[in-house]
Amino acid sequence: MAKSCIVGGGRAGSAEHIFPACLGGLRVNKHIYCGNHNHAYGDLAGNLAFQLALYNARLGIKNTRKKKIKIVELTDPETGAKYNFDGENLSPVGVRIIAKDGEQITAAVPNEPDAIRRFIEEQEAQGFKVDIKSGQVQTYYPGTLRTQQSFGGPEGLRAIGYVAQTFLAHCFSDAAHAASMAQFIDYTLHGNCEPLVWWDFEAPTDLPPNAFEFGHRIIVGIDADRGVVYGRVSLFSALDFAMIFYDAPDAIASASVINDIDPLASDMPDDLRQIRESSAIASVIRPENLTASLASAVRDGRAQQRHADLMRRSEEYQRRNDAASLLEKIQAAADFPAKQRTVREFWDAEPQRVLNLLNGTLKGIKGLNRPHDLGWLHLVRCLERATQRDETAPSGLTAGAQAAIGIAAAALAGAMGEAIRTNALGQHETEMFLGGGLGMHAASEAVLAAAP
Ligand SMILES: [Zn+2]
Repeated sequence: MAKSCIVGGGRAGSAEHIFPACLGGLRVNKHIYCGNHNHAYGDLAGNLAFQLALYNARLGIKNTRKKKIKIVELTDPETGAKYNFDGENLSPVGVRIIAKDGEQITAAVPNEPDAIRRFIEEQEAQGFKVDIKSGQVQTYYPGTLRTQQSFGGPEGLRAIGYVAQTFLAHCFSDAAHAASMAQFIDYTLHGNCEPLVWWDFEAPTDLPPNAFEFGHRIIVGIDADRGVVYGRVSLFSALDFAMIFYDAPDAIASASVINDIDPLASDMPDDLRQIRESSAIASVIRPENLTASLASAVRDGRAQQRHADLMRRSEEYQRRNDAASLLEKIQAAADFPAKQRTVREFWDAEPQRVLNLLNGTLKGIKGLNRPHDLGWLHLVRCLERATQRDETAPSGLTAGAQAAIGIAAAALAGAMGEAIRTNALGQHETEMFLGGGLGMHAASEAVLAAAP
C-alpha cells in the first residue's frame, strides 16, 4: 500500500479521519495525508461542519474529536435577536434591552452564571455604574428562528470534493495516488479554478437504500468503459453531489465502493457499511453545464423541498427520541400518581413545545380558510390570542398567551394522564402528544374552553 501523501508525495502518517470528525466521522487512515496537508484541509472540513450545523445539532451529531455538538446560531428575523442552539436548548446571545425608563432599564440576560457579570463589566467599561434592582428567571419564547447558513457555494462544493477524494484514497489508493489526480487535488486544496464538483438532483435512484437512517453515502469508482474515475456524495440521503476526479482512458477494470456512514454511531464498526463491486456502480457523466441541475431544482422547488424534507425527518427523529425517554420515565414511576407527576413536570418544563402545538393548530385551522364561517373566525381569534407575541415583554409573549400556555400545559398533562390510566399510552401516542394531533387537540381544546 502506498504510504505517501496524495497531495505532495511526502510521507503520509497523520491519522486522518476518512469522514471528517467534525461531522461525526470515527475512522482514521494513516496512508492518505501528511500532517501539513491534513491540517491544510482542516478549514474545509470546518466549513462543511458550519454549513451542516443545524442538521447536525437537531440530530445530536457530535464532533467525534471534541465530543461535542457544534452550536449553531439562529436569528429571529423579526427582531434580529440571535440565539445559540445546541440541539436541545436555545439561549439568547447577549443582553436584550426590553424597556428604558430614565436611568432604569429592564433587560433580558441569558440565564448563565457569567452573563450578568459580563454585562456589568461592559457597562462599567463604558462609564456606567450598574445597580441590579431585581431579577427573575423567566422563559423566553422566540419567534420563528432562521439559520443564516445555506448549503453549497464554492467552498461547500470544494469541501464535498475533499471528502470524496479522501474516500477515493481509502478505497482505491493507487487511483488516488495517480499523477492525473493533481488537478482535482489542486481544486480542493486551493480552489483557484472552475468547480469540479456539482449538485446532482438526477442522482441514480436504483441503488440500495442507505444502511442508516441519517446516513451519508460516498461512492467512489473507476469506470473502465467510460474511462473516468468518479465520485458521488449524498449527505443525509438528501443533498447529492457528483464529480469526476479525472479521465482515465487507460483504465483496465471497473470497480466501485459504496460507503454508507452513520454520523450518529458512537463506535466502530457500526459507523460504516461498505459494498464493493467489480462494476462501475452509479458512474458519473460530466454534464455540459455543471450548474444546470441545481438551477433547475431551485426553479422548480426541488432544492427547497430537499431541505424541508430533511428538516421534517430530523424533527421526527428528535420527537421519537423525546417520546421514548419520557415514556421510560413514566414506566419507571412507581404508581399512577407518580406517573401523573412525571407527565405534569414534563409539560411544565416544556412551554415552548406547548406553544408549538398551539401554533401548529392555528396554522392548520388557518389553512382551511373559511372566512365566512363564524365558528372558524372564533377559533382563529382564540388561537391567535393564545400565541400572540409581545417583544416588549420579557417572555416575548403577551400575558394572555402566557396564561394560555399554562392552561394548555395542564390539559396536556391531564390528557396524557388519562391515557396512562386507560393503558393507551405507547410510543406512537406519546409522539402524537408531543408533536402531533393528540397534543394539538388537547392543547387547543383547553385554550378554547377557557376563552372568554
Ligand atoms: Zn502532504
